[in-house]
Amino acid sequence: MHVTAIIAAAGSGRRLGGAVPKQLLDIGGRSILQHSVDAFLRHDRVSEVIVVLPGSLAGAPPAWMTSASAGGRVRVVEGGTRRQDSVANAFDRVDARCDVVLVHDATRPFVTPDLISRSIDAAMAHGAAIVAVAVADTVKRVDGSRVVTETLPREAIYLAQTPQAFRRAVLGDAVALGRAGVAATDEAMLAEQAGHPVHVIPGDAANVKITTAADLEAARRDLRGAGRVGTGYDLHRLVEGRPLILGGVRVPSPFGALGHSDADVVCHAATDAILGAAALGDIGRHFPDTDPAWKDASSVELLRRAAVMAAEAGFEIVNLDVVVVLERPKIAPLLERIRQGIADAVGVTVDRISVKGKTNEGVDAIGRGEAIAAHAVAMLHASVRTT
Ligand code: MG
Repeated sequence: MHVTAIIAAAGSGRRLGGAVPKQLLDIGGRSILQHSVDAFLRHDRVSEVIVVLPGSLAGAPPAWMTSASAGGRVRVVEGGTRRQDSVANAFDRVDARCDVVLVHDATRPFVTPDLISRSIDAAMAHGAAIVAVAVADTVKRVDGSRVVTETLPREAIYLAQTPQAFRRAVLGDAVALGRAGVAATDEAMLAEQAGHPVHVIPGDAANVKITTAADLEAARRDLRGAGRVGTGYDLHRLVEGRPLILGGVRVPSPFGALGHSDADVVCHAATDAILGAAALGDIGRHFPDTDPAWKDASSVELLRRAAVMAAEAGFEIVNLDVVVVLERPKIAPLLERIRQGIADAVGVTVDRISVKGKTNEGVDAIGRGEAIAAHAVAMLHASVRTT
């Protein structure tokens, strides 16, 4: 069986991206369009992909479309004035052996292999089929003054998504009707009017069309992961005559941690956990102790800066959990102050910060009181930016 996917990407809507058409905006390192095209290219039942681009792009399409990884299965055609004209242009270029044609909006990058498979099967079975979702809300019809004139039975209402799938001859009839002057907002509408029953197959609420800035942010957030975890670890020797600073709090002790800075293992481990969760490297890369700027810096300041860097990369701190491994002194009386110090540094409420003390039961260098260590785990999530 030969399946052709037409990706409708000829829109030039720049509302979301300034100079860049919406379908070329980046989400998670690839353009919205590339996500959509890749979904079909990677599907083992899709033979070829025809991408309809605006005239300004059709002559010089993005390099990935013609790259080796696309396997020569992507062809580019220039779009028309309306969506239906664009799809008609693409239909003219469909391979003669084609059995099923899928039409998909470029701005639905989360189409799944399952939706594609079920669309192909439904087109083979019924001639025409669209992915659509039932409505959860009550649906009202209103008049020109926005007064409700009717409450529609919502069981009978579906919201059309894409892919829309057709046997080649059915789409041929739909395209011919459009060329004869019938205007439509999707190909299924033309197929209906050409007398072909169009079946609905259950869609997927995640198969969203990226239309608004909020959609774009949500898509970026989804792709970056709902939650991201990082770990941090630090160890310093303990020597006489040095201050012992944990989370910026001075701990009364005859021994302190040896290091270039204040050797605050809590801040250092927490800083690395945050940087790690955001995949931003580590404390040594950003705050090298060979740089005079950081030589006498408070480690609370480094922790604060790590939280700012994570925020600039689009992440918020969900929580931080730190374990301090220290034989003596007991730090239990100071834990609340240490928690508060960390919370203030990273800009969250103290209920998101945990600090626990632990001994090593007299075993190894830490157990003998020669060193102090800290382990930290940070969880971040992608922040919702209102741009
Ligand atoms: Mg350190």
